[in-house]
Amino acid sequence: MIAFLKNNTSPTQIAELQLFLSQKGFESHLVQNQNICLIPSLLDSTILNTFSFIETTKIIDTAFQLSSNQYKKELNFQVKGVQMGTNYANIIAGPCSVESEAQIFETAAFLNKLGVKFIRGGAYKPRTSPYSFRGLGKEGLRLLSEAAKQYDLRVVTELMDLSLLDEVMAHADILQIGSRNMANFFMLSELGKINKPIMLKRGMQAKVNEWLLAADYILSGGNENLILCERGIRSFDPMSRNVMDIGVIPLIQSLSHLPIIADPSHGTGDAKWVPTMAKASMVAGANGLMIEIHPNPSKALSDSKQALSFDAFEKFLADFELLKNTIQKPIDATYSMAV
Ligand code: PEP
Ligand code: MN
Repeated sequence: MIAFLKNNTSPTQIAELQLFLSQKGFESHLVQNQNICLIPSLLDSTILNTFSFIETTKIIDTAFQLSSNQYKKELNFQVKGVQMGTNYANIIAGPCSVESEAQIFETAAFLNKLGVKFIRGGAYKPRTSPYSFRGLGKEGLRLLSEAAKQYDLRVVTELMDLSLLDEVMAHADILQIGSRNMANFFMLSELGKINKPIMLKRGMQAKVNEWLLAADYILSGGNENLILCERGIRSFDPMSRNVMDIGVIPLIQSLSHLPIIADPSHGTGDAKWVPTMAKASMVAGANGLMIEIHPNPSKALSDSKQALSFDAFEKFLADFELLKNTIQKPIDATYSMAV
């Protein structure tokens, strides 16, 4: 249940409410900056009638609370002047890893030419093998944000560990939390305290309930600007890297007000299937796409098989133009105007 507190509620009144609840055996949680007190259990709200500083209460009948659409109906926000959220669709593209100055500047120039507004690229990479390329680190972040600045792009990059928070915050416009960290609960709750949008990728074995509870870890700290990203789940079948769960897009939208974007690159693991699954995700209602591209895919130092070449990405955007009426959301890539 959520208790909405009046604007001028004092810390003493909040303490009084929390003490009352704990004496009755209910846990409660004050959400910073939002004037709400979250009581994760179902309780009869009439017991709160004596608290005049409670404006109203709302029962949320799922384990996840703040990510529920029973709490909010939509979420829209701006990232350096670009609208994102439930009412929009954004295209994020770029290499799996930042590899060199030439690679990232070439990519940024290409995205700018196509009217794309967001560049992605990992500087600290989570790799299965410690002997694989693990990113350029600090230097990668610097190159990425310089390329973004030069070509008017916003940066999406992964935060692998809290020890890197300040460093990554200084270069990123959206912090990507990768599949492997979706269940890093300590990290998630720390991200609730920062003022930067988060893109929370689905854990590779996460159930929807677990994913939305992970979102609640961030939201309950007071950070409201959160986007989910479907990136495929693991299956028993070695024929594809992951199973791209397009069905989860309308499912999430039936449960949550959080925008959801699709990552068909990790979702399929193969550039051959990326355009089709990207289009299918958008028709299913996704609020955007994150796609890996590379100036020379066969030479990419990570995720080479799934990277689209520039030609393939441009062709995809042209095909995608034809779907604009079906998608019925403003898409930020101004491709048709750019070419
Ligand atoms: C990535 O986006 O490059 C990445 C590592 O993704 P995921 O966490 O989904 O594997
Ligand atoms: Mn990748």
